[in-house]
Parts: sequence; structure tokens; C-alpha cells
Amino acid sequence: MGAWGHDLFQSDHDLDMVSEMTHDAGLYKLEEEAIAKAKAAGESDAEKQIYYNLYGPSHPDVVRHHLDSGVLVDLIEKKKAKMLAPPNRLDFLRDPCYEYVLLGACAMGLGCTLPSDYLNMLKKVYTEGGLMSGALMQMRKALFGPDGFTNGVPYDFESKDLIETANSMHDEDRQPGASGFVSLNVIGPGGFFNTGMGDSSTSTIIKELRAQHAKPDACGGCGVKAQQSGAALLQCAKCKNRRYCSSTCQKKHWKVHKRVCDPTLY
Ligand SMILES: [Zn+2]
Ligand SMILES: [Zn+2]
Repeated sequence: MGAWGHDLFQSDHDLDMVSEMTHDAGLYKLEEEAIAKAKAAGESDAEKQIYYNLYGPSHPDVVRHHLDSGVLVDLIEKKKAKMLAPPNRLDFLRDPCYEYVLLGACAMGLGCTLPSDYLNMLKKVYTEGGLMSGALMQMRKALFGPDGFTNGVPYDFESKDLIETANSMHDEDRQPGASGFVSLNVIGPGGFFNTGMGDSSTSTIIKELRAQHAKPDACGGCGVKAQQSGAALLQCAKCKNRRYCSSTCQKKHWKVHKRVCDPTLY
């Protein structure tokens, strides 16, 4: 597992994840069909000209159109369900929150139309999946500006690829390896040696979102399903996503809940 920088799309970890999501989105199948069609039309080097991917495809407009036809919304729902499901002991290898955020970065890069509840959720959780330092700053800028992502317009994260990174290094920074190749390995996201910045398994925000998701009809403070009087639970007036049996429980729980209630609060 290698990485050549701390930005988005600068590690095998990210590119492997992108590749799997590309498969999930049905893009490799679409690519196969497009190549077959081009070859039938006499384009012998179609394989070199046509590559569909969630990041850096040959035909971004084709990929965007495919995603905007409902594929992206399905994919978001799947990744969200995984992120809000009870934690899995293998999450450290493939953090579900990281994946959820990386999908967003891909969709923004392509200029897809992102549902507003997805954008709101990204604002709440982009810090919680273990993104590298540069990637965090890139996501913050895309989501909160200035000059951030405009829905439906391709957004440039300005991540350098491996070759650009190598070319931009000063000669004295290059460390020729035994093979003669320039070593660009930096510690990447995910796995045993991740950034040390935490991941969704230790996140209060993800924990609260999971609790909210698992028991939407229980008091966020004490877990009961009705007020003492038997009346229905009260609702958080701001987000309407959390219920409480009393103002005491709501006040007690606010310290946690405020972190997911409204992304503009922090
Ligand atoms: Zn309560
Ligand atoms: Zn709320």
C-alpha cells in the first residue's frame, strides 16, 4: 500500500476504493460496451481512448450523465447504510465513512448533481473517516468554500498524480531507491499505519449518527420510547432527527447531538 502525498487520490488506498466504486457504479461494463462499439466502427485503439472511471475518466460527460441518471443516488444510499450500520471489526481497513466521503469527492470532481441531504451529511462527517491532512483541507474548501463546489459543476481538487508529484519535487528531496526509482512513499490512509488522526470507529459524530439511525424512535438521552405521561416523544426542533422524553434529556444530550444537528454550528 503506497501513497505519494496527503491529498485526495494520492494513495493506492484511495485509488483502490475508487476502482471498486467504479465497478459498483456499473462503469466498467459501460466502458466495455463503448469500446466494443468504437472498435466495430473501426477505431483500433479504442482501449486507449476510452476509460470510464469515477476519477479522471476519458469522457467525464458520459460518466456524469450515467451517474446522474440515478446511479449516484443508489450508491450514496448504499455507502450511507454501511456507514450507519453497527461497527465492523474490519472497518479500520476500509473505513465506511472514508468511503462515503471519497464517493462525494469523486462526484464533485465530475460535476454531478449531489442531493442536498448528501451535501449536508458530508459537511457533518468529512472529518471523521481518517482522511489525510491535505485531503481534509481539500474537502473543507470544496464543501464550505471560498471557491468551493457548485452543485453540477466539475470541481478541481488539484491533487497531483504520482508523475506530477515526482516532477514537482526538488532534486534533493528525491531518494533514489535500490531499483533506481524515485521513492515517493509516505504514510497513507487506512490500515494499520494510518494517519493516526482517528477514524469513524472512534468518532462521537458517527456514533451519534449510528444511534440515531438504529433507534430513531427512542429518547436520545435515556432510550425510552414515550414521555412519562405516555405522550409521544418530543422532537429536536432544529433537525427533527432526534427525539427526547424531556427537556432534561435533551439538555443532557446536547453536547453530543449538537455535533450532528446542524453543520453550520461548528
Ligand atoms: Zn430521556
Ligand atoms: Zn437536532
